[in-house]
Amino acid sequence: MDYTKLADLLFPDVDKDTEYYEAMYPARELPEGAVVTRFAPSPTGFVHFGGLFPVLVCERLAHQSGGVFYLRIEDTDSKREVEGAENDIIKAFEDFGVRFDESVVHGGSYGPYRQSDRRAIYRAYAKKLVSEGKAYPCFCSAEELSALREKQEAAKVVPGYYGEYVKCRDLTIEQVQENLKAGKPFVLRFKSFGNSNNKIKFTDLVKGTIEVTENDIDHVLLKSDGMPTYHLAHAVDDHLMHTTHVVRGEEWLSSLPYHIQLFSAFGFKLPKYLHISQLMRLAEVEEDGVVKQVKKKLSKRDKGAGLTSYISEGYAPECVTEYVLTLLNSNFEEWRRANPDAPLSEFKFAIKKMSASGSLFDLKKLADVSKNVLSRLSADEIYARLVRWTAEYDGEFNALLTADEAYAKRILAIGRGGAKPRKDFALYSEVKGYMGFFYDVYFSYIDSVPDNFAKADIKKAIELFMESYDENDDQPTWFAKIKDVAAAIGYSPDIKAYKANPEQFGGHVGDVSMFLRVAVTGKTNSPDMFEVMAILGKERVFARLKSFADMM
Ligand code: GLU
Repeated sequence: MDYTKLADLLFPDVDKDTEYYEAMYPARELPEGAVVTRFAPSPTGFVHFGGLFPVLVCERLAHQSGGVFYLRIEDTDSKREVEGAENDIIKAFEDFGVRFDESVVHGGSYGPYRQSDRRAIYRAYAKKLVSEGKAYPCFCSAEELSALREKQEAAKVVPGYYGEYVKCRDLTIEQVQENLKAGKPFVLRFKSFGNSNNKIKFTDLVKGTIEVTENDIDHVLLKSDGMPTYHLAHAVDDHLMHTTHVVRGEEWLSSLPYHIQLFSAFGFKLPKYLHISQLMRLAEVEEDGVVKQVKKKLSKRDKGAGLTSYISEGYAPECVTEYVLTLLNSNFEEWRRANPDAPLSEFKFAIKKMSASGSLFDLKKLADVSKNVLSRLSADEIYARLVRWTAEYDGEFNALLTADEAYAKRILAIGRGGAKPRKDFALYSEVKGYMGFFYDVYFSYIDSVPDNFAKADIKKAIELFMESYDENDDQPTWFAKIKDVAAAIGYSPDIKAYKANPEQFGGHVGDVSMFLRVAVTGKTNSPDMFEVMAILGKERVFARLKSFADMM
Protein backbone atom coordinates (compact mmCIF):
# COMPACT_ATOMS: atom_id res chain seq x y z
CA MET A 1 0.00 0.00 0.00
CA ASP A 2 1.27 3.43 -0.92
CA TYR A 3 0.50 5.32 2.30
CA THR A 4 1.77 8.63 0.97
CA LYS A 5 -0.70 8.38 -1.85
CA LEU A 6 -3.48 7.48 0.57
CA ALA A 7 -2.59 10.48 2.74
CA ASP A 8 -2.69 12.84 -0.25
CA LEU A 9 -5.99 11.39 -1.30
CA LEU A 10 -7.58 11.94 2.10
CA PHE A 11 -6.09 15.33 2.87
CA PRO A 12 -6.07 17.47 -0.28
CA ASP A 13 -6.60 20.50 1.99
CA VAL A 14 -3.43 20.02 4.04
CA ASP A 15 -0.65 22.20 2.65
CA LYS A 16 1.69 22.35 5.64
CA ASP A 17 3.49 19.38 7.09
CA THR A 18 4.11 18.65 10.72
CA GLU A 19 7.70 19.93 10.44
CA TYR A 20 6.22 23.34 9.81
CA TYR A 21 4.31 23.24 13.07
CA GLU A 22 7.21 21.74 15.00
CA ALA A 23 9.31 24.72 13.93
CA MET A 24 6.53 27.15 14.71
CA TYR A 25 6.15 25.91 18.29
CA PRO A 26 9.65 25.26 19.59
CA ALA A 27 10.34 24.16 23.17
CA ARG A 28 9.46 26.87 25.66
CA GLU A 29 12.31 28.83 27.13
CA LEU A 30 11.70 28.30 30.81
CA PRO A 31 13.83 27.73 33.88
CA GLU A 32 14.88 24.20 34.73
CA GLY A 33 12.03 22.29 36.36
CA ALA A 34 9.34 24.72 35.20
CA VAL A 35 5.94 23.10 34.91
CA VAL A 36 3.56 23.87 32.06
CA THR A 37 -0.11 23.16 32.75
CA ARG A 38 -3.39 23.87 31.12
CA PHE A 39 -7.07 24.02 31.87
CA ALA A 40 -8.97 22.62 28.94
CA PRO A 41 -12.71 22.94 29.43
CA SER A 42 -15.41 22.31 26.89
CA PRO A 43 -17.45 25.49 26.78
CA THR A 44 -20.92 24.58 27.97
CA GLY A 45 -21.88 27.99 29.29
CA PHE A 46 -21.71 26.72 32.88
CA VAL A 47 -18.58 27.04 34.98
CA HIS A 48 -18.62 24.21 37.50
CA PHE A 49 -17.27 24.75 40.98
CA GLY A 50 -15.42 21.43 40.59
CA GLY A 51 -13.26 23.10 37.94
CA LEU A 52 -11.57 25.05 40.68
CA PHE A 53 -9.80 21.86 41.83
CA PRO A 54 -7.77 21.13 38.68
CA VAL A 55 -7.39 24.85 38.06
CA LEU A 56 -5.80 25.49 41.44
CA VAL A 57 -3.53 22.47 41.08
CA CYS A 58 -2.44 23.68 37.63
CA GLU A 59 -2.04 27.26 38.73
CA ARG A 60 0.11 26.40 41.73
CA LEU A 61 2.26 23.84 39.91
CA ALA A 62 2.97 26.25 37.07
CA HIS A 63 3.45 29.48 38.95
CA GLN A 64 5.43 28.10 41.87
CA SER A 65 7.95 26.64 39.40
CA GLY A 66 8.30 29.62 37.07
CA GLY A 67 6.22 27.83 34.45
CA VAL A 68 3.14 28.63 32.42
CA PHE A 69 -0.56 28.00 32.98
CA TYR A 70 -2.75 28.41 29.94
CA LEU A 71 -6.39 28.07 29.00
CA ARG A 72 -7.35 25.97 26.00
CA ILE A 73 -10.94 25.85 24.89
CA GLU A 74 -11.99 22.41 23.72
CA ASP A 75 -14.81 23.19 21.36
CA THR A 76 -14.41 20.60 18.62
CA ASP A 77 -17.89 19.36 19.36
CA SER A 78 -19.65 22.21 17.56
CA LYS A 79 -23.08 21.23 18.91
CA ARG A 80 -22.00 22.29 22.37
CA GLU A 81 -20.33 25.54 21.44
CA VAL A 82 -21.45 28.53 23.45
CA GLU A 83 -20.94 32.14 22.42
CA GLY A 84 -18.59 34.18 24.63
CA ALA A 85 -17.72 31.19 26.79
CA GLU A 86 -14.01 32.05 27.00
CA ASN A 87 -14.62 35.39 28.63
CA ASP A 88 -17.04 33.89 31.12
CA ILE A 89 -14.57 31.17 32.05
CA ILE A 90 -11.66 33.56 32.41
CA LYS A 91 -13.72 36.01 34.45
CA ALA A 92 -15.10 33.25 36.69
CA PHE A 93 -11.60 32.05 37.61
CA GLU A 94 -10.05 35.49 37.79
CA ASP A 95 -12.63 36.30 40.44
CA PHE A 96 -10.95 33.57 42.48
CA GLY A 97 -7.51 35.02 41.94
CA VAL A 98 -6.46 32.60 39.22
CA ARG A 99 -4.36 34.08 36.46
CA PHE A 100 -4.01 32.41 33.08
CA ASP A 101 -0.80 33.30 31.27
CA GLU A 102 -2.03 32.42 27.82
CA SER A 103 -5.49 32.08 26.29
CA VAL A 104 -7.64 33.28 23.40
CA VAL A 105 -8.00 36.52 25.33
CA HIS A 106 -4.46 36.85 26.76
CA GLY A 107 -2.72 35.70 23.59
CA GLY A 108 0.54 33.74 23.64
CA SER A 109 3.01 32.17 21.23
CA TYR A 110 1.52 28.67 21.32
CA GLY A 111 -1.98 29.39 20.04
CA PRO A 112 -4.54 29.32 18.65
CA TYR A 113 -5.98 28.51 22.08
CA ARG A 114 -9.37 27.48 20.75
CA GLN A 115 -9.45 24.00 19.24
CA SER A 116 -11.93 24.91 16.53
CA ASP A 117 -9.24 27.27 15.21
CA ARG A 118 -6.65 24.47 15.07
CA ARG A 119 -8.32 22.30 12.48
CA ALA A 120 -5.47 22.63 9.96
CA ILE A 121 -2.94 21.57 12.61
CA TYR A 122 -4.83 18.42 13.59
CA ARG A 123 -5.27 17.49 9.96
CA ALA A 124 -1.57 17.87 9.25
CA TYR A 125 -0.76 15.49 12.10
CA ALA A 126 -3.52 13.07 11.09
CA LYS A 127 -2.13 13.07 7.58
CA LYS A 128 1.29 12.22 8.92
CA LEU A 129 -0.09 9.16 10.69
CA VAL A 130 -1.80 8.01 7.50
CA SER A 131 1.39 8.50 5.49
CA GLU A 132 3.19 6.27 7.99
CA GLY A 133 0.52 3.57 7.83
CA LYS A 134 -0.67 4.28 11.37
CA ALA A 135 -4.17 5.48 10.57
CA TYR A 136 -6.77 4.71 7.94
CA PRO A 137 -10.15 5.90 6.68
CA CYS A 138 -13.20 3.96 7.78
CA PHE A 139 -16.35 4.18 5.67
CA CYS A 140 -18.57 2.05 7.92
CA SER A 141 -22.03 3.55 8.16
CA ALA A 142 -23.90 4.21 11.39
CA GLU A 143 -26.09 1.17 10.63
CA GLU A 144 -23.07 -1.07 10.15
CA LEU A 145 -21.57 0.11 13.41
CA SER A 146 -24.73 -0.44 15.38
CA ALA A 147 -25.08 -3.92 13.85
CA LEU A 148 -21.52 -4.56 15.02
CA ARG A 149 -22.38 -3.38 18.51
CA GLU A 150 -25.41 -5.69 18.66
CA LYS A 151 -23.35 -8.61 17.50
CA GLN A 152 -20.73 -7.91 20.15
CA GLU A 153 -23.35 -7.53 22.84
CA ALA A 154 -24.90 -10.86 21.87
CA ALA A 155 -21.49 -12.51 21.94
CA LYS A 156 -20.76 -10.79 25.27
CA VAL A 157 -17.43 -9.43 24.10
CA VAL A 158 -15.87 -6.00 24.56
CA PRO A 159 -17.57 -3.58 22.19
CA GLY A 160 -15.50 -1.63 19.69
CA TYR A 161 -13.70 -1.61 16.39
CA TYR A 162 -10.89 -4.09 16.88
CA GLY A 163 -9.46 -7.45 15.85
CA GLU A 164 -11.81 -9.57 13.79
CA TYR A 165 -14.49 -6.82 13.83
CA VAL A 166 -12.37 -4.37 11.87
CA LYS A 167 -13.62 -3.89 8.32
CA CYS A 168 -11.83 -0.97 6.72
CA ARG A 169 -8.22 -1.46 7.83
CA ASP A 170 -7.14 -3.14 4.65
CA LEU A 171 -9.07 -1.29 2.00
CA THR A 172 -7.06 -0.86 -1.18
CA ILE A 173 -6.30 2.54 -2.62
CA GLU A 174 -8.85 1.79 -5.34
CA GLN A 175 -11.57 0.98 -2.81
CA VAL A 176 -10.83 4.17 -0.92
CA GLN A 177 -10.93 6.15 -4.14
CA GLU A 178 -14.25 4.60 -5.08
CA ASN A 179 -15.78 5.42 -1.72
CA LEU A 180 -14.53 8.98 -1.90
CA LYS A 181 -15.87 9.37 -5.39
CA ALA A 182 -19.25 8.09 -4.24
CA GLY A 183 -19.16 10.88 -1.64
CA LYS A 184 -19.23 8.46 1.28
CA PRO A 185 -18.43 10.12 4.58
CA PHE A 186 -15.56 8.61 6.53
CA VAL A 187 -13.84 8.84 9.88
CA LEU A 188 -10.12 8.40 10.36
CA ARG A 189 -9.18 5.54 12.66
CA PHE A 190 -6.01 4.81 14.55
CA LYS A 191 -4.41 1.51 13.59
CA SER A 192 -3.91 0.10 17.04
CA PHE A 193 -0.87 -2.09 17.52
CA GLY A 194 -1.88 -3.20 20.99
CA ASN A 195 -3.01 -6.51 22.38
CA SER A 196 -5.66 -6.74 25.07
CA ASN A 197 -3.84 -9.66 26.65
CA ASN A 198 -0.97 -7.39 27.53
CA LYS A 199 -0.81 -5.31 30.65
CA ILE A 200 1.24 -2.17 30.92
CA LYS A 201 2.37 -0.35 34.02
CA PHE A 202 1.81 3.33 34.26
CA THR A 203 2.55 5.85 37.00
CA ASP A 204 0.04 8.57 37.60
CA LEU A 205 1.33 11.28 39.92
CA VAL A 206 -1.82 11.15 42.04
CA LYS A 207 -3.09 7.61 41.66
CA GLY A 208 0.34 5.98 41.83
CA THR A 209 1.49 3.06 39.72
CA ILE A 210 -1.35 1.26 38.08
CA GLU A 211 -1.60 -1.63 35.70
CA VAL A 212 -3.73 -1.08 32.64
CA THR A 213 -4.72 -3.24 29.69
CA GLU A 214 -3.12 -2.35 26.40
CA ASN A 215 -5.44 -0.71 23.91
CA ASP A 216 -6.37 -2.80 20.88
CA ILE A 217 -9.25 -0.68 19.61
CA ASP A 218 -8.99 1.32 16.41
CA HIS A 219 -10.42 4.48 17.90
CA VAL A 220 -11.61 7.42 15.85
CA LEU A 221 -9.04 10.19 15.37
CA LEU A 222 -10.99 12.46 13.05
CA LYS A 223 -14.76 12.59 12.93
CA SER A 224 -16.63 12.63 9.64
CA ASP A 225 -16.72 16.45 9.76
CA GLY A 226 -12.91 16.40 9.67
CA MET A 227 -12.56 17.63 13.25
CA PRO A 228 -10.49 15.70 15.78
CA THR A 229 -11.78 13.66 18.68
CA TYR A 230 -10.60 14.62 22.16
CA HIS A 231 -7.83 12.02 21.95
CA LEU A 232 -6.10 13.30 18.85
CA ALA A 233 -6.48 16.90 19.98
CA HIS A 234 -5.05 16.02 23.40
CA ALA A 235 -1.93 14.46 21.90
CA VAL A 236 -1.32 17.15 19.30
CA ASP A 237 -2.12 20.14 21.50
CA ASP A 238 -0.31 19.06 24.63
CA HIS A 239 2.70 18.19 22.49
CA LEU A 240 2.80 21.45 20.54
CA MET A 241 1.94 23.61 23.52
CA HIS A 242 4.61 21.79 25.55
CA THR A 243 2.41 20.82 28.47
CA THR A 244 4.54 19.02 31.03
CA HIS A 245 1.75 17.98 33.43
CA VAL A 246 -1.76 17.04 32.33
CA VAL A 247 -4.17 17.54 35.20
CA ARG A 248 -7.58 16.15 34.31
CA GLY A 249 -10.59 14.24 35.62
CA GLU A 250 -10.20 10.57 36.43
CA GLU A 251 -12.87 9.76 33.86
CA TRP A 252 -10.03 9.99 31.33
CA LEU A 253 -7.97 7.31 33.04
CA SER A 254 -9.62 4.56 30.99
CA SER A 255 -8.48 6.24 27.75
CA LEU A 256 -4.92 6.43 28.95
CA PRO A 257 -3.64 3.22 27.26
CA TYR A 258 -4.85 4.67 23.98
CA HIS A 259 -3.19 8.03 24.69
CA ILE A 260 0.09 6.29 25.48
CA GLN A 261 -0.07 4.55 22.09
CA LEU A 262 -0.98 7.73 20.31
CA PHE A 263 1.91 9.71 21.77
CA SER A 264 4.23 6.89 20.86
CA ALA A 265 2.87 6.63 17.29
CA PHE A 266 3.60 10.33 16.84
CA GLY A 267 6.96 10.06 18.55
CA PHE A 268 5.86 12.61 21.17
CA LYS A 269 7.17 12.66 24.69
CA LEU A 270 4.42 11.56 27.08
CA PRO A 271 3.52 14.30 29.58
CA LYS A 272 3.12 13.53 33.26
CA TYR A 273 -0.46 12.86 34.29
CA LEU A 274 -2.45 13.74 37.39
CA HIS A 275 -5.89 12.21 37.27
CA ILE A 276 -8.03 13.76 39.93
CA SER A 277 -11.20 12.31 41.36
CA GLN A 278 -14.61 13.77 40.91
CA LEU A 279 -15.85 16.08 43.59
CA MET A 280 -18.44 14.22 45.64
CA ARG A 281 -21.11 15.32 48.06
CA LEU A 282 -22.91 13.42 50.78
CA ALA A 283 -26.54 12.76 50.04
CA GLU A 284 -29.23 10.99 52.01
CA VAL A 285 -31.11 8.19 50.34
CA GLU A 286 -33.83 6.00 51.71
CA GLU A 287 -33.49 2.30 51.21
CA ASP A 288 -36.09 -0.08 52.68
CA GLY A 289 -37.18 2.62 55.09
CA VAL A 290 -33.64 3.27 56.32
CA VAL A 291 -31.99 6.61 55.58
CA LYS A 292 -28.41 6.19 54.47
CA GLN A 293 -25.69 8.61 53.56
CA VAL A 294 -24.12 8.00 50.19
CA LYS A 295 -21.54 9.84 48.10
CA LYS A 296 -22.86 11.45 44.96
CA LYS A 297 -21.34 13.51 42.20
CA LEU A 298 -21.81 17.24 42.72
CA SER A 299 -24.00 17.82 39.70
CA LYS A 300 -24.96 20.98 37.93
CA ARG A 301 -28.32 21.20 39.69
CA ASP A 302 -26.89 20.84 43.20
CA LYS A 303 -26.49 23.78 45.52
CA GLY A 304 -22.95 25.08 45.24
CA ALA A 305 -22.28 23.60 41.79
CA GLY A 306 -21.96 26.90 39.94
CA LEU A 307 -18.69 28.71 40.50
CA THR A 308 -20.08 32.20 39.99
CA SER A 309 -22.85 31.62 42.53
CA TYR A 310 -20.25 31.74 45.31
CA ILE A 311 -19.53 35.35 44.51
CA SER A 312 -23.16 36.41 44.37
CA GLU A 313 -23.96 34.54 47.57
CA GLY A 314 -21.29 36.51 49.34
CA TYR A 315 -18.39 34.11 49.73
CA ALA A 316 -15.05 35.85 49.70
CA PRO A 317 -13.12 34.24 46.82
CA GLU A 318 -10.01 33.83 48.96
CA CYS A 319 -12.05 31.79 51.43
CA VAL A 320 -13.24 29.47 48.70
CA THR A 321 -9.75 28.95 47.30
CA GLU A 322 -8.43 28.43 50.80
CA TYR A 323 -11.10 25.78 51.34
CA VAL A 324 -10.31 24.03 48.06
CA LEU A 325 -6.59 23.98 48.87
CA THR A 326 -7.44 22.50 52.27
CA LEU A 327 -9.21 19.65 50.51
CA LEU A 328 -6.59 19.24 47.81
CA ASN A 329 -3.48 19.12 49.87
CA SER A 330 -3.11 17.48 53.25
CA ASN A 331 -0.21 19.83 54.01
CA PHE A 332 -2.21 22.97 53.64
CA GLU A 333 -3.79 23.36 57.07
CA GLU A 334 -0.47 22.82 58.79
CA TRP A 335 1.15 25.41 56.53
CA ARG A 336 -1.64 27.84 57.28
CA ARG A 337 -1.24 27.42 61.04
CA ALA A 338 2.45 28.17 60.71
CA ASN A 339 1.87 31.08 58.30
CA PRO A 340 -1.45 32.64 59.29
CA ASP A 341 -0.99 35.79 57.26
CA ALA A 342 0.90 34.55 54.22
CA PRO A 343 -0.76 34.90 50.80
CA LEU A 344 -1.86 31.66 49.13
CA SER A 345 0.73 32.19 46.43
CA GLU A 346 3.42 31.35 48.98
CA PHE A 347 2.06 27.89 49.62
CA LYS A 348 4.25 25.25 47.98
CA PHE A 349 1.81 22.80 46.49
CA ALA A 350 3.03 19.22 46.82
CA ILE A 351 1.59 16.65 44.43
CA LYS A 352 2.53 13.90 46.88
CA LYS A 353 0.13 15.34 49.42
CA MET A 354 -2.88 15.01 47.16
CA SER A 355 -5.48 12.43 48.01
CA ALA A 356 -6.04 9.76 45.38
CA SER A 357 -9.59 9.23 46.52
CA GLY A 358 -10.74 12.76 45.92
CA SER A 359 -12.62 15.34 47.90
CA LEU A 360 -15.92 15.59 49.65
CA PHE A 361 -17.84 18.79 49.24
CA ASP A 362 -18.93 20.22 52.58
CA LEU A 363 -20.51 23.64 52.97
CA LYS A 364 -20.05 23.56 56.76
CA LYS A 365 -16.33 23.13 56.38
CA LEU A 366 -16.30 25.94 53.82
CA ALA A 367 -18.06 28.17 56.36
CA ASP A 368 -15.48 27.31 59.05
CA VAL A 369 -12.58 28.05 56.73
CA SER A 370 -14.25 31.27 55.61
CA LYS A 371 -14.75 32.50 59.16
CA ASN A 372 -11.10 31.92 59.88
CA VAL A 373 -9.90 33.68 56.76
CA LEU A 374 -12.16 36.69 57.27
CA SER A 375 -11.24 36.95 60.94
CA ARG A 376 -7.59 37.41 59.99
CA LEU A 377 -8.25 40.43 57.80
CA SER A 378 -7.80 43.94 59.16
CA ALA A 379 -10.82 46.22 59.53
CA ASP A 380 -9.61 48.22 56.52
CA GLU A 381 -9.32 45.08 54.41
CA ILE A 382 -12.70 43.70 55.34
CA TYR A 383 -14.27 47.12 54.84
CA ALA A 384 -12.84 47.46 51.32
CA ARG A 385 -14.05 44.00 50.34
CA LEU A 386 -17.47 44.51 51.88
CA VAL A 387 -17.93 47.79 50.07
CA ARG A 388 -17.01 46.12 46.79
CA TRP A 389 -19.40 43.25 47.33
CA THR A 390 -22.33 45.33 48.58
CA ALA A 391 -21.87 47.77 45.68
CA GLU A 392 -22.95 44.93 43.44
CA TYR A 393 -25.32 42.93 45.63
CA ASP A 394 -26.74 45.16 48.39
CA GLY A 395 -26.91 48.80 47.36
CA GLU A 396 -28.79 49.92 50.48
CA PHE A 397 -26.23 48.51 52.88
CA ASN A 398 -23.47 49.84 50.65
CA ALA A 399 -24.86 53.36 50.95
CA LEU A 400 -24.79 53.12 54.74
CA LEU A 401 -21.29 51.68 54.83
CA THR A 402 -19.87 54.37 52.59
CA ALA A 403 -21.82 57.29 54.09
CA ASP A 404 -19.65 57.09 57.20
CA GLU A 405 -16.52 55.10 56.51
CA ALA A 406 -14.90 55.73 59.90
CA TYR A 407 -18.02 54.53 61.73
CA ALA A 408 -18.21 51.31 59.66
CA LYS A 409 -14.52 50.63 60.19
CA ARG A 410 -14.81 51.10 63.96
CA ILE A 411 -17.58 48.52 63.98
CA LEU A 412 -15.59 46.11 61.86
CA ALA A 413 -12.53 46.59 64.08
CA ILE A 414 -14.30 45.16 67.16
CA GLY A 415 -12.48 42.03 68.28
CA ARG A 416 -10.06 42.06 65.36
CA GLY A 417 -6.27 41.97 65.41
CA GLY A 418 -5.65 39.89 68.55
CA ALA A 419 -4.46 36.33 68.84
CA LYS A 420 -8.07 35.12 69.00
CA PRO A 421 -10.06 37.31 66.63
CA ARG A 422 -13.85 37.14 66.60
CA LYS A 423 -15.35 34.83 63.98
CA ASP A 424 -18.78 36.23 63.42
CA PHE A 425 -19.43 35.74 59.74
CA ALA A 426 -18.45 33.44 56.91
CA LEU A 427 -20.00 35.39 54.04
CA TYR A 428 -20.31 39.06 53.16
CA SER A 429 -24.04 38.46 53.01
CA GLU A 430 -23.97 37.60 56.74
CA VAL A 431 -22.31 40.84 57.81
CA LYS A 432 -25.53 42.83 57.83
CA GLY A 433 -27.06 40.35 60.27
CA TYR A 434 -24.02 40.73 62.48
CA MET A 435 -23.61 44.52 62.54
CA GLY A 436 -26.92 45.81 61.17
CA PHE A 437 -28.05 46.98 64.60
CA PHE A 438 -25.47 49.75 64.44
CA TYR A 439 -27.72 51.35 61.84
CA ASP A 440 -31.17 52.48 62.98
CA VAL A 441 -32.85 51.27 59.78
CA TYR A 442 -31.75 47.71 60.45
CA PHE A 443 -32.22 47.77 64.21
CA SER A 444 -35.01 45.57 65.55
CA TYR A 445 -35.63 43.34 68.55
CA ILE A 446 -34.61 39.95 67.24
CA ASP A 447 -34.26 38.38 70.67
CA SER A 448 -36.08 39.16 73.87
CA VAL A 449 -35.19 38.90 77.54
CA PRO A 450 -36.30 35.47 78.86
CA ASP A 451 -39.68 35.46 80.66
CA ASN A 452 -38.28 34.44 84.04
CA PHE A 453 -37.02 37.99 84.70
CA ALA A 454 -39.40 40.48 86.24
CA LYS A 455 -40.15 43.38 83.93
CA ALA A 456 -39.77 45.75 86.87
CA ASP A 457 -36.19 44.51 87.37
CA ILE A 458 -35.35 45.13 83.75
CA LYS A 459 -36.85 48.58 83.79
CA LYS A 460 -35.13 49.52 87.03
CA ALA A 461 -31.76 48.19 85.84
CA ILE A 462 -31.92 50.22 82.66
CA GLU A 463 -32.93 53.39 84.48
CA LEU A 464 -30.14 53.04 87.02
CA PHE A 465 -27.63 52.32 84.29
CA MET A 466 -28.70 55.45 82.40
CA GLU A 467 -28.30 57.52 85.55
CA SER A 468 -24.74 56.35 86.09
CA TYR A 469 -23.51 56.08 82.47
CA ASP A 470 -20.71 58.39 81.46
CA GLU A 471 -19.26 57.94 77.98
CA ASN A 472 -15.85 59.02 79.27
CA ASP A 473 -15.58 56.06 81.60
CA ASP A 474 -13.01 53.40 80.84
CA GLN A 475 -14.06 49.78 80.55
CA PRO A 476 -13.41 48.76 84.19
CA THR A 477 -15.31 51.79 85.52
CA TRP A 478 -18.16 51.13 83.10
CA PHE A 479 -18.36 47.54 84.26
CA ALA A 480 -18.10 48.45 87.94
CA LYS A 481 -21.19 50.60 87.43
CA ILE A 482 -23.09 47.69 85.95
CA LYS A 483 -22.16 45.68 89.04
CA ASP A 484 -23.52 48.49 91.19
CA VAL A 485 -26.75 48.43 89.21
CA ALA A 486 -26.98 44.69 89.81
CA ALA A 487 -26.50 45.09 93.55
CA ALA A 488 -29.07 47.90 93.66
CA ILE A 489 -31.83 45.73 92.17
CA GLY A 490 -31.00 42.71 94.34
CA TYR A 491 -28.96 40.82 91.75
CA SER A 492 -25.54 39.46 92.61
CA PRO A 493 -22.61 41.56 91.28
CA ASP A 494 -20.56 38.40 91.40
CA ILE A 495 -21.51 35.36 89.32
CA LYS A 496 -19.74 32.88 91.61
CA ALA A 497 -21.57 34.21 94.65
CA TYR A 498 -24.82 33.88 92.71
CA LYS A 499 -24.09 30.27 91.80
CA ALA A 500 -23.37 29.41 95.45
CA ASN A 501 -26.71 30.83 96.62
CA PRO A 502 -29.00 31.49 93.66
CA GLU A 503 -32.10 31.70 95.86
CA GLN A 504 -30.76 34.86 97.52
CA PHE A 505 -30.76 36.89 94.31
CA GLY A 506 -33.09 37.83 91.44
CA GLY A 507 -30.21 37.16 89.07
CA HIS A 508 -26.61 38.24 88.57
CA VAL A 509 -24.52 40.90 86.85
CA GLY A 510 -24.44 38.88 83.61
CA ASP A 511 -28.23 39.09 83.48
CA VAL A 512 -28.09 42.86 83.85
CA SER A 513 -25.59 43.01 80.99
CA MET A 514 -27.98 40.88 78.97
CA PHE A 515 -30.86 43.32 79.59
CA LEU A 516 -28.67 46.13 78.31
CA ARG A 517 -27.51 44.06 75.37
CA VAL A 518 -31.01 43.20 74.21
CA ALA A 519 -32.13 46.80 74.69
CA VAL A 520 -29.23 48.24 72.69
CA THR A 521 -28.54 45.58 70.04
CA GLY A 522 -31.85 43.71 69.87
CA LYS A 523 -29.93 40.47 70.37
CA THR A 524 -28.69 38.29 73.23
CA ASN A 525 -25.47 37.76 71.35
CA SER A 526 -23.32 40.67 70.24
CA PRO A 527 -19.78 41.97 70.29
CA ASP A 528 -18.39 43.58 73.43
CA MET A 529 -21.04 45.95 74.87
CA PHE A 530 -18.56 48.53 76.12
CA GLU A 531 -17.27 48.98 72.58
CA VAL A 532 -20.72 48.77 71.07
CA MET A 533 -21.93 51.62 73.29
CA ALA A 534 -18.83 53.69 72.60
CA ILE A 535 -19.34 53.35 68.84
CA LEU A 536 -23.12 53.88 68.87
CA GLY A 537 -22.69 57.02 70.98
CA LYS A 538 -24.58 58.06 74.08
CA GLU A 539 -27.50 59.58 72.26
CA ARG A 540 -28.40 56.50 70.26
CA VAL A 541 -27.70 54.19 73.21
CA PHE A 542 -29.99 56.20 75.45
CA ALA A 543 -32.76 56.40 72.87
CA ARG A 544 -32.77 52.60 72.62
CA LEU A 545 -32.48 52.04 76.37
CA LYS A 546 -35.34 54.40 76.98
CA SER A 547 -37.71 52.91 74.47
CA PHE A 548 -36.90 49.43 75.78
CA ALA A 549 -37.54 50.49 79.37
CA ASP A 550 -40.82 52.06 78.25
CA MET A 551 -41.96 48.71 76.91
CA MET A 552 -41.47 47.07 80.33
N1 GLU B 1 -12.17 18.91 27.51
C1 GLU B 1 -11.85 17.87 28.44
C2 GLU B 1 -12.83 17.91 29.58
O1 GLU B 1 -13.49 18.93 29.75
C3 GLU B 1 -10.45 18.13 28.95
C4 GLU B 1 -9.81 17.02 29.67
C5 GLU B 1 -8.34 17.38 29.82
O2 GLU B 1 -8.03 18.23 30.64
O3 GLU B 1 -7.54 16.84 29.07
O4 GLU B 1 -13.00 16.94 30.27
